[in-house]
Order: sequence, then structure tokens, then C-alpha cells
Amino acid sequence: MSHDCIFCSIIDGAIPCYTVYETDETLAFLDANPLEPGHALVIPKTHHERLGDLPTELAARVWETVSELGPQIEFAVGADSMTIGMNDGAAAGQEVPHVHVHLVPREQGDGAGPIHAAFPGQQDVPDEELAELAESIRS
Ligand code: AMP
Ligand code: ZN
Repeated sequence: MSHDCIFCSIIDGAIPCYTVYETDETLAFLDANPLEPGHALVIPKTHHERLGDLPTELAARVWETVSELGPQIEFAVGADSMTIGMNDGAAAGQEVPHVHVHLVPREQGDGAGPIHAAFPGQQDVPDEELAELAESIRS
């Protein structure tokens, strides 16, 4: 529990939220500034800032909640699809430093595009460079 974390305060009950799903280890609630109706956040109930800070077991519990809840939101709001993702770290746009997964309902023609739309100008990377990168990540 972090005293200056808004999501810890939600878990504590000090700040209200619209809960949509809850387990012993995770909580899901509606985003206060939804990108689309039904936009929800899934969080672990203990304070961890980044994905890499989460114990693997807890990361699995978070993903279980995401996979249970995603289709339920889609059904409830009559959406066609979902964009599911994280802003993991400040440079990626993370504003609340408590791990959270965004679930955003999508519809054909909503104009928001795929996650790829956040990165204008795809790079053409030579095979050798891909091989080096893969080796570096593996090791
Ligand atoms: P991020 O930029 O990935 O850190 O996203 C943080 C998200 O938390 C934003 O979409 C905010 O709208 C949402 N948010 C911030 N405060 C609250 C709150 N008290 N209740 C619900 N959602 C919140
Ligand atoms: Zn927190």
C-alpha cells in the first residue's frame, strides 16, 4: 500500500470507484475518463509500479482477470472488439504509478486505429539487426 497512490486509495475504499469485477488479488473498475463507454482498468491489489515489479504469480492473476472481464465488457456494451494494453513507464504515457491494464471497447469505424497508430513511420530493420536484438533479449 502506498499512501500517495490514487489506485491504492481506491483499493482501500478512501476514493470511490465503479467496480466491475473483483478477486482476492485484483480489482477492476471503470476509468474515470473513458476513451469509450465501458473503458475499464484492471489492477493488482498490492502496490507495484511497473509490470516488471509484479511477482509472476500476481501478473498471472492480473491477466486472468483481464481475460475473464474483457469479453464481459464487450458483451455488456455491445462492442465488436477490445483494445487491451498498458502504458508501462512514464515514457510510454503511464501517469498513475500503480500497474494497470486498460480494456477499451472498440467498434468498426471508431477511428482510433490499432496500437500501431501510436508509432507513425514503421522501421525497416535488416534481418541481422533482428537476430542481434533477439539474441540480446534472450540473454
Ligand atoms: P495511465 O496514463 O495509463 O497511467 O492511465 C491512468 C488512467 O487512470 C487514466 O485513463 C485515468 O482516466 C484513470 N484514472 C485516474 N484516476 C482515476 C480514478 N480516481 N478513478 C478511475 N480512473 C482513474
Ligand atoms: Zn498503488
